[in-house]
Amino acid sequence: MELENIVANTVLMKAKESTRDGKGRSKRWRSMLQFSEPTDCEYLRDTLELSYDQVVNQQPIGELLFEEFCDTDNLLSSCWKFIRRLEDYRTLPNEKLKDHAQQIFEEFLTPQPKLISPPELEANETLCNSGAEAYPNVINHSLLEILSPEVIEETRVSISEAATSRSFNKIEIELRSYFIGEPFQLFKKSKYFLRFLQWKHLERQSVSEDKFRIFRVLGKGGFGEVFAAQSKISGKMYAIKKLEKKRVKKKKAEDLALTERKILELVDSRFVVNLAYAYETKDSLCLVLTLMGGGELKYHIYEIGHAGLPLERAVFYAAEIAAGLSHLHDKRILYRDMKPENILLDERGHVRISDLGLAIRVPEGTKVKGRVGTAGYMAPEVLKNESYIFAIDWWGLGCVIYEMIAGRPPFREKKERVNKDTLDNRVLHKSQQYTPKFNVEASLICTRLLDKNPSTRLGGKREVFEDPFFNTIHWPQLESGKLEPPYAIDPRAIYAKDVMDIDQFSSVRGINLNDNDVRFYEKFSIGAVPYAWQREVIETTVYHDLNQFPVDGSLVPVAYG
Ligand code: ADP
Ligand code: MG
Ligand code: MG
Repeated sequence: MELENIVANTVLMKAKESTRDGKGRSKRWRSMLQFSEPTDCEYLRDTLELSYDQVVNQQPIGELLFEEFCDTDNLLSSCWKFIRRLEDYRTLPNEKLKDHAQQIFEEFLTPQPKLISPPELEANETLCNSGAEAYPNVINHSLLEILSPEVIEETRVSISEAATSRSFNKIEIELRSYFIGEPFQLFKKSKYFLRFLQWKHLERQSVSEDKFRIFRVLGKGGFGEVFAAQSKISGKMYAIKKLEKKRVKKKKAEDLALTERKILELVDSRFVVNLAYAYETKDSLCLVLTLMGGGELKYHIYEIGHAGLPLERAVFYAAEIAAGLSHLHDKRILYRDMKPENILLDERGHVRISDLGLAIRVPEGTKVKGRVGTAGYMAPEVLKNESYIFAIDWWGLGCVIYEMIAGRPPFREKKERVNKDTLDNRVLHKSQQYTPKFNVEASLICTRLLDKNPSTRLGGKREVFEDPFFNTIHWPQLESGKLEPPYAIDPRAIYAKDVMDIDQFSSVRGINLNDNDVRFYEKFSIGAVPYAWQREVIETTVYHDLNQFPVDGSLVPVAYG
């Protein structure tokens, strides 16, 4: 029924709008998210790793609270402002670096004699007496006290010669190592740190289906359907991938499911679908993932106008995929399933790698064996049953770049039906042909990536990023998500099949679940994943709404009914 689809889509659109205007939260959201007394959170001191790196660098809420703590002190707050400025600086286009480098140097690293008017002088008296004797009237007394003069001088010389995005790196390292010392110890004794523990305690609340509103089905996987969903607490939209317990058991896929969950938990990249929660219901295991509302890359290549994408889009998507792959490889995760249907677009037109069901963690110094992947996209060394490593994913990127530009995969003609053996044979022995749509850079990168010999194939972050195909890409901007996508997604369109056109599953018969299964489900269901949960809380302003410190000094606000 047509109507069923229209209703499902309308409800989903409404939900998405409610995220934007903050109306997606349940009326009871505050009662679902209440801070406990600090004494009830003390146990976390023994269970969590509480180093500077773990708290401030790895956790968005830890970072914000440390920043708030720094704001209570002149010296620390200028250090922190400086660090924020540097984050910004690094993503500037090259031609702007020099001016900004000089401005930053003036503002933060040059002693600034300033005439102070009498009343101000009084207020600053104590400040001037402590340290900074050489510059009695200096207001930004601070950074110069901490940093070594040699490094400042070195930086000054280097930016006057040529400013690069790395110009302030040494200074930043010094600043960060300063933070790790006394400031972090003081932070750990402050109310901001108690608040951190309170947030961590909330993060560990158990998660179940009743924390979400579930909307229309988006797609069908091997073990269950994928639905659009919304957190009742924050209003954030997600995709929930369901793995039906009986189907998993029937196919003996427990290890597969657990591996997928474990790998997703390790991933934290804007170019890979991220996991926010894993929980179970009576019938299913559920993965709560970044919602990708722009559909599959495959759809964009084939279903809109002529097959194939303009070069500019191909370059942009390829760059984001390459950034996603290098994130995975950095974590020693081999993806193994690169193909256009596994690359999904979000509402803004950015892409992410999705479906990590075949991914595997590769310990240092080892290789992998096993014919895994999709016919037509597997690298020659996989087909030949040799042991292989990260080069196979770069081969996959070659296939996807080729397909985006040509409007067909590298080893298959348009609409051609070929059997697996013929296809494998072509992958092993034939070379791909380039149409006039390929410019020199495009055909060159495809040839380098589709090199049948893995040891000479293009690969690795540095080499790929520096390839001339990506000349127009400013990598620091791309990696920080600041590059505008070249193609805008229609915000009113639903890039998924009609609900009735997504096949339903038949029910699984003859499978009974026992205690062993229950233990596996418990292992699978980890609740909230820290950084994803913290980002959700911050970006939906739940953090801001709850984090206020009551004036009476207590850390637990009066209960909300
Ligand atoms: P499986 O591993 O069982 O193949 P997938 O992860 O590929 O399952 O998901 C099945 C389908 O669901 C995909 O082809 C896609 O259409 C849709 N889908 C999966 N993940 C998302 C997501 N994060 N956002 C939107 N749709 C998704
Ligand atoms: Mg899939
Ligand atoms: Mg899969």
